[in-house]
Amino acid sequence: MLSVFCSPSRYTQGKNATASLGHEMASLGLEGPALIVAGRSAISLLSETWRCSLSAAGISYSLHRFGGECSLSEIERVKAAAGENRARVIVGAGGGKVLDTARAAAADLNLPVVNCPTVASSDAPCSALSVVYTDEGVFQEYRIYRKNPDLVLVDTQIIAQSPPRLLVAGMGDALATWFEAKTCVEGSIRNMRGGASTQSALALAELCYQTLLNDGAEALRAIQTRVVTPALERLVEANTLLSGLGFESSGLAAAHAIHNGLTTAPPTHQFFHGEKVAYGVLVQLILEGKPRSLLMQVLEFASEVGLPLTLADIGLGDLDRDMLNRIAERSTAKGETIHNEPFEVTAEMVSDAIRAADATGSAWKQNHGHRVAVISPGKESDKTMQGAAPSA
Ligand SMILES: [Zn+2]
Repeated sequence: MLSVFCSPSRYTQGKNATASLGHEMASLGLEGPALIVAGRSAISLLSETWRCSLSAAGISYSLHRFGGECSLSEIERVKAAAGENRARVIVGAGGGKVLDTARAAAADLNLPVVNCPTVASSDAPCSALSVVYTDEGVFQEYRIYRKNPDLVLVDTQIIAQSPPRLLVAGMGDALATWFEAKTCVEGSIRNMRGGASTQSALALAELCYQTLLNDGAEALRAIQTRVVTPALERLVEANTLLSGLGFESSGLAAAHAIHNGLTTAPPTHQFFHGEKVAYGVLVQLILEGKPRSLLMQVLEFASEVGLPLTLADIGLGDLDRDMLNRIAERSTAKGETIHNEPFEVTAEMVSDAIRAADATGSAWKQNHGHRVAVISPGKESDKTMQGAAPSA
């Protein structure tokens, strides 16, 4: 098996990075006209900066207001707008769903794509895949593209204005990266590109985990104060770049499969992708029989930043046997990444581990108290507004 590592062609991050968007595009040979696909809040925050930056670089552009869902019909609308404006590059600016839509349209039209995430809530922006939904918001398909974005540009001044809970959700997604990557590498599993992992991808995944432990709490305080600090910069890089490269070039395992199982329980729909993934990490560590010291380290981190520790924290305080079985069946469905674990995983093992994780998390809370309360069920409309799409 060949080793394969994939990544965006360029990753640019920093305070007020949007002011350099035109320059970065021009330096990569990305010429206008551009079509910018953006959500409402991205437009109000960034339209003036786009005007200055792109005109200084001689890039003409037009704007497509995002319709709210990464669906086939929205992808078609973006493609039609790109055609009308003779776009030669597509720029997505907003949450995960906006970026997923921009990537999908660009891939269909064989155009380069630029991703400008305005939240750091998942590791999707650097990846070469989209999650497509129906117009009603029901999962439809994963789309995997030939190549990763040409440019990912992250403006930490904009991230600092986003809701803290979304940054914490991104930490939950990033928390899984190292554990899933390590499991895949130990089992010689093919990564998202069909190759073996590289040392580089595994090292980045480990750096991702260390950055969460070192900077997660400080970064949360920064975003709660709406300021950019070095800790926030490092944490945003971990959520966006390190986690993205780690999962795509090393692979996913139990934690994301548990997430997929949890989505079958309606009460969890109030919670973000990364929040459910974080619970999936606890379940994975228990399934794998990891030492107590590691579990305690993960629980301490999760507690400190306000990630879920128990079933009640993801809306499943009174989980009945039927729903638990449904979650476990879905988590172990054929083709799920839980089968990347180095041993056979049955639905029964998963339902036991889900219960055990809850007991461990509850005991930890009783002994330590739950320090931060960032999680509270959000409204679906908030999610759509922020465009925080579930990622792979
Ligand atoms: Zn994810």
